[in-house]
Amino acid sequence: MGEFAAGRISRDELQLLYDRALRDTIQRFEATGSPVITDGEQTKPSFATYPIHGLETLGPGGVTIPFADGHTRQLPRLTAGPFRYRTYAAQFLDEARKHTRRPVKQAVISASALSLLYPQDGLPAYSRDKFLDDLVREAEQDIRRCLTRGASGVQIDFTEARLSVKLDPSKQLLRAFVALNNRVLERFTAAERQRIGVHTCPGGDQDSTHSADVDYADLLPGLFELKVGSFYIQLASERDRGRVLRIIKQHARPEHKIFVGVIDPIDPHIESPEQVRDRVLEAAEVIPLEQLGTTDDCGFAPFGDDTSTPRDTAFAKIRARVAGTQLAAKALGV
Ligand SMILES: [Zn+2]
Repeated sequence: MGEFAAGRISRDELQLLYDRALRDTIQRFEATGSPVITDGEQTKPSFATYPIHGLETLGPGGVTIPFADGHTRQLPRLTAGPFRYRTYAAQFLDEARKHTRRPVKQAVISASALSLLYPQDGLPAYSRDKFLDDLVREAEQDIRRCLTRGASGVQIDFTEARLSVKLDPSKQLLRAFVALNNRVLERFTAAERQRIGVHTCPGGDQDSTHSADVDYADLLPGLFELKVGSFYIQLASERDRGRVLRIIKQHARPEHKIFVGVIDPIDPHIESPEQVRDRVLEAAEVIPLEQLGTTDDCGFAPFGDDTSTPRDTAFAKIRARVAGTQLAAKALGV
């Protein structure tokens, strides 16, 4: 991606490399035994900006996100309306499904993350309300196309949820984010929403986080207001997992599926299956078994500008998740 951006390889050459990376990812993902796989986001410029990559109505100088290790990420800023996605996530799903018969989960970015593109001081002839109407419609399309085109589930990446509590301890920003995402979710039927989930984490970029210091007790009550069927919750890297599990239990409803994170993608150490098994058993003491699933705490940040996690490490960790979950299922007699 870097070579292409620098003009040193052609679009065709990039496409060949994309195809090779996608095939390799899917083969290796299938080999882990994971019952649901993804495309590993191999061709996304980033988890957040794929819909707007190449959009002409963007300029520099948007919202800056500081990480614990001192590095920052800066979003672009919208310069004019009307706001339209350039790429919908179903494009990645279609490519992945050419290469596998396994169920494929598709990640999409939240409407709330993209709402940060609108400049603080407004835009002439394109109001914030009009922007949000356009954004809600586009975010709905992004999800709906994935459902229609056969995703086993659609996961909304909502990493800014935890960050929002850090930026605004009054939680008004979190409530606004949840309300905006619910405007999108309300456009789906209850049956469709059962196939939609949300992912929360403290960020995971260049092996650093942006909001791990925010207490889950301040986030989870608001998060569970989202009208989704599944919650994919970073947990492995939490200091007091038992406490977080009890907060989850307190706020989850019986129709919710809770996928607890059992793998920490930021930790270079590869978890053993036994370690994963014990994390699942710990969760099973609190969360009813029929609601419980496992996941990785976060993605492995497989983007062109973050080479912090080698592919072999990522797949070894996923193998440990699958093997450890199987050990736990056996121990629990399910
Ligand atoms: Zn994440």
